[in-house]
Amino acid sequence: MKLFEVVKAGHDFGNAPVLRDVSFEIEEGESFGIIGPNGSGKSTLIKGMTGLLSLTRGEVRYRGRPVKAIAKKELARQIAVLEQEGTPALTFSVEEIVAMGRYPWLKPLADLSLRDQGLVRNVLKSLGLWEIRTQSIATLSGGQRQLVSLARAMAQEPQVLILDEPTTYLDIGHQTLVMEHVRRWHAEQGITVIMVLHDLNLAAQYCTKLLLLEDGQVRSCGDMSEVLKEGIISKVYHTDLIMIEHPVLGVPQFLLTSK
Ligand code: ADP
Ligand code: MG
Repeated sequence: MKLFEVVKAGHDFGNAPVLRDVSFEIEEGESFGIIGPNGSGKSTLIKGMTGLLSLTRGEVRYRGRPVKAIAKKELARQIAVLEQEGTPALTFSVEEIVAMGRYPWLKPLADLSLRDQGLVRNVLKSLGLWEIRTQSIATLSGGQRQLVSLARAMAQEPQVLILDEPTTYLDIGHQTLVMEHVRRWHAEQGITVIMVLHDLNLAAQYCTKLLLLEDGQVRSCGDMSEVLKEGIISKVYHTDLIMIEHPVLGVPQFLLTSK
């Protein structure tokens, strides 16, 4: 089943085209990565796909319907988005933030039901946040905050999880922690995961399909191993690199090299 169809999408900021003629599809249940250099249009594309931004040209369809025609609340019940610059308001506690994940499911001004409360509790426990649930998120490290954002997304019980550079400011321990939680959730619940990743080695490990953007255009799209080729990656990222096979996982990995 096709989940997303992006058809000749284009976007301009002022006179500058930042997306041009972008077409691709995402199937339900995939682990789909979007890669490309800084400024290549990845975040803009994600915002267009979730209706956060109205694209200048083309169309995005979600389950066959134009995304622009779907009510925001209905979309929020299906799709959870962790935005790149999405630090939640700092005065809230961990559990308050996670409880916000239930809002798309509540009637206006209604309180959390017992089921909602149980769900929030389970999510806090499964991500190791139970002990710090009453702390203000202002007191947390970047890695812990990213886990709280992920917990809020989980509490939302979405069918699709969209992450924009979830590991950018995290140390390797927290990178692995966040990515392994996403992987487990994907495997156990069968949700579709769409993630923008700037780290190609993580993209190789966690995505089965990839879209490579360059200057707002699709440079390559398909199976991870088809997209991650040494020649095209070194050209698009303007850097010399060596591609090797991961000794344990067998996926491509990139080493930087200097002349
Ligand atoms: P990426 O996520 O791949 O780094 P973005 O989609 O954030 O790229 O940005 C693509 C281009 O659009 C960049 O040149 C960026 O400066 C520009 N851009 C992004 N958001 C805006 C905005 N709100 N107004 C003007 N230009 C923007
Ligand atoms: Mg971005």
